[in-house]
Amino acid sequence: MQKQQLLYKGKAKSVYETDDSDFLILHFRDDTSAFDGKRVEQLARKGEVNNRFNAFIMQKLAEAGIETHFEKQLSNDEVLVKRLDMIPVECVVRNFAAGSLVRRLGLEEGQALTPPTFELFYKDDALGDPMVNESLAVSLGWANKEQLAQMQKLTYQVNDVLKALFDAGGLMLVDFKLEFGVFHDRIVLGDEFSPDGCRIWDKNTKKKLDKDRFRQSLGDVIEAYEEVASRIGVPSN
Ligand code: ADP
Ligand code: UDP
Repeated sequence: MQKQQLLYKGKAKSVYETDDSDFLILHFRDDTSAFDGKRVEQLARKGEVNNRFNAFIMQKLAEAGIETHFEKQLSNDEVLVKRLDMIPVECVVRNFAAGSLVRRLGLEEGQALTPPTFELFYKDDALGDPMVNESLAVSLGWANKEQLAQMQKLTYQVNDVLKALFDAGGLMLVDFKLEFGVFHDRIVLGDEFSPDGCRIWDKNTKKKLDKDRFRQSLGDVIEAYEEVASRIGVPSN
């Protein structure tokens, strides 16, 4: 499949058209952003590390029967995906309290959430990705009720599969964000799953091994991503 013109340059990935209108190429860049794009830095190797990480996870999810956009890893930092009509909503599941939930409700970081919570955020950097609910998403025409129910169901399924995968590597999956889109009338998992969009802690030491290392200037960001990758079995080059 031939890479054609740049369709969209996001904060971390560039999206290219291909000669087949059903497929896109995502290029994972080294750009790393936080606080809705207000802070951006280049972290060497991040594009490759996240591309490999994402390819591994997407294949695990497909093996578990979850339909994803992943088609084929094309190079160290590029992947071929199905072209989805993206739903502008971020689906977040939390197994333990962290981040915006701690800030919003004054919880203690690390408090177990049983059962895991499910939240929706409107994907809009200018507005700071505000929290929304299903009613708003339907009324504003972002998705219908059935699609939202399917997104919630799939997000919980992803949680079940990945909690076990990370647990086997001595890691806690604290929370994560997914994006879905529509492909020929079906809800399909899109975007990426990498340490940029989830929180992962060491089970014993509770050391943060995800993008919070960047957000909180803890250092060794990519080293932590690589450690997680090796502990869950992501093949290195
Ligand atoms: P952002 O838009 O948050 O800056 P990225 O830099 O990751 O994020 O850009 C990737 C963009 O591509 C996002 O807007 C995402 O919603 C979109 N996207 C991801 N997967 C697909 C897909 N399969 N089809 C169409 N768009 C996609
Ligand atoms: N997240 C993300 N992109 C966003 C917002 C959140 O990938 O635009 C991820 C984030 O990395 C975390 C989870 O979603 O794993 C929950 O994020 P939270 O609501 O706690 O927000 P944050 O603290 O990141 O502002």
